[in-house]
Amino acid sequence: MPRPILATIHSAALQHNLDRARRAALDSRVWAVVKANAYGHGIERVFDAFRGADGIALLDLNEAERVRSLGWRGPVLLLEGVFEPRDLELCSRLDLWHAVHCDAQIDWLAAHKTQVPHRVFLKMNSGMNRLGFTPERFRAAWTRLNALPQVDEISLMTHFSDADGPRGIAHQLEVFDEATRDLPGERSVANSAATLRHAAAARADWIRPGILLYGSSPDFPEHDAAHWQLQPTMTLSTRLISVQTLEAGDTIGYGSRFTAEGPMRIGVAAVGYADGYPRHCDTGTPVLVDGVRTRMVGRVSMDMITVDLTPVPEAGFGSEVTLWGRGSNGTVLPIDDVAKAAGTVGYELMCAVTRRVPFAVD
Ligand SMILES: *Cc1c(COP(=O)(O)O)cnc(C)c1O
Repeated sequence: MPRPILATIHSAALQHNLDRARRAALDSRVWAVVKANAYGHGIERVFDAFRGADGIALLDLNEAERVRSLGWRGPVLLLEGVFEPRDLELCSRLDLWHAVHCDAQIDWLAAHKTQVPHRVFLKMNSGMNRLGFTPERFRAAWTRLNALPQVDEISLMTHFSDADGPRGIAHQLEVFDEATRDLPGERSVANSAATLRHAAAARADWIRPGILLYGSSPDFPEHDAAHWQLQPTMTLSTRLISVQTLEAGDTIGYGSRFTAEGPMRIGVAAVGYADGYPRHCDTGTPVLVDGVRTRMVGRVSMDMITVDLTPVPEAGFGSEVTLWGRGSNGTVLPIDDVAKAAGTVGYELMCAVTRRVPFAVD
């Protein structure tokens, strides 16, 4: 028998979440963001569920090739644009739209030989200070691009630093609107948090939701996934491969990190940090056993964790263990709850499931 760990991707939930994004921005077209191999889900595994998107956005060229080879004929956007001049040949060949965020990318375009001009998304740095032209330099970049025969339509984009938090987006949106006021072209500004929290951003021509499609709340813990009506799209599950009975004073695992206060049953689950389960999780991290919420105890090992079976006296060898996602009785353990216990975000957990974990799609 193979080791019982499994990551299951839920197609219906992916579709539901895409629909949720649409309902938040009824007049916008939707880029389904599938960078980082669809946030760890696997581009090939999410593709069918995202057929209803208006475009697919990502940033690795090999991922763009995979999307085209799946038969996607709609728009594909490279969110960071090209990384070297020859990438433009792939853009021409596969009809990829690409962000333009720096002068080097414009130089490369100017030198590029192509029959068909490219659709580009000119990126403004409106305050995030990672990629993009400053508002002062934006117009010059636009004018230069607009003069190139290699360039077709120019769309305008920016990215928010605080769409999920108290600072909000108003300061950046104002800068963007002001600097683009009399420029033609479609606009795209909203990630997941902006799509759900800021109607002014979601009204632009295109929204760019990522994390919400994968059922994690972009502004957890202020709002959880249930608040935003998002469904979990990945379940990481395994089984108990051993049960131990402890007496008061007994300890568990490396470093004797947990000490039993009284008699208790402990289950040993076949999952560890080598599967992508975060090693930072400590006693108290939530986990489902046979669909009942309980807690991890002790330290995460490479291949095993230990869980408190006190709330599930019926559980034993072979019982189902859900690390995040949906238990087979329907109970949900939000990935955001686990991420919080690990001091991180749902994004990181879903991207970190390792290669030795088999995947299934339902
Ligand atoms: C990743 C990314 C998104 C999606 O962000 P989420 O927070 O996952 O919704 C949108 N736009 C750009 C430019 C990105 O890189």
